[in-house]
Amino acid sequence: MSEKLRYERPVIQKLNTGLMNKFGTNLDYSPIIEIEGIEVKKLIEEYGSPLFVLSENKIRKKYQHAVRTFSSRYPKVQFAWSYKTNYLNAICSVFHQEGSWAEVVSGFEYEKALANNVPGNKIIFNGPDKSNDDLKNAVIHNSMIHIDHLDELYCLIKLAKEINARPRVAIRVNMDTGVYPMWDRFGLNYENGQAWDALNKIQASGVLDLKGLHCHIGTFMLTPNAYGMAASKLADLAFRVQQKFGISLEYIDMGGGLPSSNNLKGAYLPGIDIIPSIDEFAEAIATGLINSPIRPEDLPTLIMESGRALVDEAGYLLGTVISNKRLSSGKRATIMDFGVNILFTSFWYNHKINPAQPTTDYLEDMEIFGPLCMNIDVIRESISLPPMKKGDQVVVQNVGAYNVTQWMQFITLRPNVVLIDSNAKAHIIRKKESTDYINSMELVPDHLKSFKL
Ligand SMILES: *Cc1c(COP(=O)(O)O)cnc(C)c1O
Repeated sequence: MSEKLRYERPVIQKLNTGLMNKFGTNLDYSPIIEIEGIEVKKLIEEYGSPLFVLSENKIRKKYQHAVRTFSSRYPKVQFAWSYKTNYLNAICSVFHQEGSWAEVVSGFEYEKALANNVPGNKIIFNGPDKSNDDLKNAVIHNSMIHIDHLDELYCLIKLAKEINARPRVAIRVNMDTGVYPMWDRFGLNYENGQAWDALNKIQASGVLDLKGLHCHIGTFMLTPNAYGMAASKLADLAFRVQQKFGISLEYIDMGGGLPSSNNLKGAYLPGIDIIPSIDEFAEAIATGLINSPIRPEDLPTLIMESGRALVDEAGYLLGTVISNKRLSSGKRATIMDFGVNILFTSFWYNHKINPAQPTTDYLEDMEIFGPLCMNIDVIRESISLPPMKKGDQVVVQNVGAYNVTQWMQFITLRPNVVLIDSNAKAHIIRKKESTDYINSMELVPDHLKSFKL
């Protein structure tokens, strides 16, 4: 007689997607036929390939969710759109319509924000490179100037006296948050006293109006706790300012750096499985501020300068297969009509790439190249996809952040960018470049204007 089977308690186990599990490997290649109600084929027919597409609806939803997440944990919250993440005017305007201020890091971006009708006092001017003219412009428009280094501080003091104005300032603070390498090349250090020294110099000058403290501790940060530490260090500084100078700072600006759900190169698991939710970052920051020695009625406004986390997932790049070939190893190579010239973020991310038409279930490991005559033009070193033929189209996802600001004009022209509004209507928000446009910037000296061949 066989022994009775022993009872085994059932267990619930999280499946690690991307790795082999009892359902096989998770392969995410299902075709994307339409985006926000418009067929991919139609978009390419009308606006060309390659083509950047952004979803207005997705931006608004993500933004509103982020604001809710922070506002439910902290009494006073203000977002400021990080222009360098995506400074197409239409995109900035969506954020401004939602109530976001502007955060800029150069004179060029500052001009853009003014031209987008952002009131000067709702522009935050960051970065290490502000010329004397930039500073003067920002002072005249009453913007918040975040001082990056002592040279800038001295420059501002001199300027304030010259034009008899009282610049509104904060300092950028860098600090040890337990994440290395430390981002200590921007701003003034907390631990070694540089930051405290600068605050004292500001007060001693008597000509600057100290309004807040700023930090931006890194980018694509995966540890909410680092933000918690940064928040309590800034709150500590704010408290010391209050104790010594009797000033309640108006705001603490925690910068950006929150991750999107993109897949970082080298990461074992897809981003969606490893990145902490925005709630966890909000919780860490709010707790760091609220648990500080600052009295509840004196708590400063929390400013967030989130960029990629708010726009990455709203962006798509549509492209077309140019050809297929076999590498000498036998591996399949697929060449697309977009490369690292317009998809700069493929240096950091394993972008999700989906076919834009129905496919077979047969998969092949392949390498995806761009069209540039450059060996580094690799979009994905290795990806399992159904083989595609010349003329087939693909949709690359999560490309809304940094690509349309970091793209380069190398051997080809930059493509159209389209925004799909909430009524499934597409609008060109940046026209594709023409050879005339590029040539209009060039000058040929007279003695080079003719030649015989
Ligand atoms: C780049 C930058 C941001 C936005 O960073 P994300 O990683 O896109 O969120 C915010 N603040 C400052 C000062 C920046 O330089």
